[in-house]
Amino acid sequence: MSDVAEAPQKRPIDKQALLKKYIAERDKRLRADGNSQYLQLKGQLAHYAEDPYTPFVERAPVTDHVTFAFIGGGFAGLVTGARLVEAGIKDVRIVEKGGDFGGTWYWNRYPGAQCDTASMVYMPLLEETGHAPSEKYAHAPEILEQCQRIGRQFGLYDKALLHTEVTDVSWDEAASRWVIATNRGDRFTASFIGLGTGPLHVPKLPGIPGIEDFRGHSFHTSRWDYDYTGGDPKGAPLTKLADKRVAIIGTGATAVQCVPHLAAAAKALYVFQRTPSSVDVRANAPIDREWFEGVATPGWQQRWLENFTANQAGGTAEEDLVKDGWTDLSRRIRSRIGHLPLEQRNLANMLAAYEDADFEKMEEIRARVDEIIGDAETAQRLKAWYRQLCKRPCFHDEYLQAFNRPNVSLVDTDGKGVERITETGVVAGGREYEVDCIIYASGFEVGTEYKRRAGFDLTGRDGFKLSEAWAQGMRTKHGVHVHGFPNAFFVQPTQGANLISNVPHNLTEAGRTIAMIIRHALDAGAKEVEVTKDAQDAWVELLLHAPARLMGSPDCTPGYYNNEGQPQHEIARYNVGYPAGPQAYFKYLEDWRSSGAFEGLEFR
Ligand code: NDP
Repeated sequence: MSDVAEAPQKRPIDKQALLKKYIAERDKRLRADGNSQYLQLKGQLAHYAEDPYTPFVERAPVTDHVTFAFIGGGFAGLVTGARLVEAGIKDVRIVEKGGDFGGTWYWNRYPGAQCDTASMVYMPLLEETGHAPSEKYAHAPEILEQCQRIGRQFGLYDKALLHTEVTDVSWDEAASRWVIATNRGDRFTASFIGLGTGPLHVPKLPGIPGIEDFRGHSFHTSRWDYDYTGGDPKGAPLTKLADKRVAIIGTGATAVQCVPHLAAAAKALYVFQRTPSSVDVRANAPIDREWFEGVATPGWQQRWLENFTANQAGGTAEEDLVKDGWTDLSRRIRSRIGHLPLEQRNLANMLAAYEDADFEKMEEIRARVDEIIGDAETAQRLKAWYRQLCKRPCFHDEYLQAFNRPNVSLVDTDGKGVERITETGVVAGGREYEVDCIIYASGFEVGTEYKRRAGFDLTGRDGFKLSEAWAQGMRTKHGVHVHGFPNAFFVQPTQGANLISNVPHNLTEAGRTIAMIIRHALDAGAKEVEVTKDAQDAWVELLLHAPARLMGSPDCTPGYYNNEGQPQHEIARYNVGYPAGPQAYFKYLEDWRSSGAFEGLEFR
């Protein structure tokens, strides 16, 4: 297994100068249109959203009843479904818009896609399925296979509706059940529903003038066109690009993983950059089978999950099992705080420790660019001038190196972005780059309202809509239960642990909790379970006392972490987690559910 070198910082850091630079770089990128700069894949752009992976098969509409229906066939639906089946509730239907299970890992098959959080903690239900990850950071096909494995092992394919989008979900008060309608003409009922539609599943395009005019080939990274590029998701070379000039627009976590593959294959590759990502050491390595057998003793994955969370998210842990770039920053902060005399461990000194550790870390990441990149000007342009958690941190050992290739050009737009797309190419800095193909690594909708991303509203008791319930901000207990929406369970991180560095940990805990609640309801003969208004209000009140998230520092460059640099709407205050942090939340949740009282829920 790999380690991250804890290199002592030699050069003194001029913090004031760095902050000034951060603010200047942020200011270059601030723009009034914020989130609305992006385009939805609708109308003339709808073809960008089509599924290139699985043929669409006609089927008859479904009109039956199931005990539990789950909307979304990604990790959230799979882990909840698995826990329900384990609890003896086998009548589970997953409804999924993709042609198979997998969610993110169904759609994102771009070359080089792999998990950025260690497989041992990222891939769900490894212990239950007996799968040993092949690499410290598994590649996408292995993660998709794990999704399929969970689906098979727990019988979740039997009732699943794939290539199916939910259009309406309404509570039938008289029958105490939900009525679910889909775009395939289905209209079935469910005693309970789960919602795991994911935070990053609606692809978006940059709002670049002329985007519809391009006459060459183009696609979004989450709909990779292997027919055009050659190669496959398993890493076969993209041979059909040998005579092609390719543009990739965007340099976020997706581009960082696929650029090396494009660079190795294309005749010419132009990487259009608006903001550089911070790219730290990856140090991927195969997982040694013998080592794994030694580690994989009963309860191993839960121990690893808890250990990662304790190390990454400001908890306490004796050792660091994963030891990577995610836990490195926290380790540095803890070490600085550990060196403070007890009487000096106050909030101001802790924030200072955080800031110092971050400056040190980012200086190392910038120094790494100089070490790798041959051309000094290119190196300068690839440096990220912001705190590490202002934007999604990236980790890769071949991305920066790709810019040393003669066929690869970095087209840095100095924060301005691409100016225009023409019939034949991409314009930036007043120059047109003629290309055969444009690949949009422009990310996914974040921060838009739930209804828009999910594609449906939820109509609860007395015709009350979810969009109304959350109009002034999200209101839940544990991020799972919403008053007015009986028998409905949301599976997502916000208002729970809110552990962003390892989203599956949030989901597996929610899945386990939901299965225990449903088992309890069925055993007690209860037809309905709902959070009380008082319990929900108390939870929201507790959350609002959480300290502001460090990633929201005002000097951050715009991105989806900070509402594209626009003032946060009042409702964003509600997008928080348990004030004492993820480690404490998971402990609290375990106590809450195992007491059997499910305090705050009403069973009737
Ligand atoms: P991002 O939203 O992170 O990146 C979009 C990119 O497009 C940014 O570099 C953005 O620049 C750029 N862009 C937008 N508009 C323009 C424009 N007009 N001109 C030029 N560039 C433009 O999307 P990704 O798909 O990379 O990642 C989304 C998220 O998905 C990640 O943050 C991560 O959470 C997840 N992910 C996870 C992975 C994993 O775990 N293995 C792998 C990949 C993604 P700017 O920065 O200036 O806005």
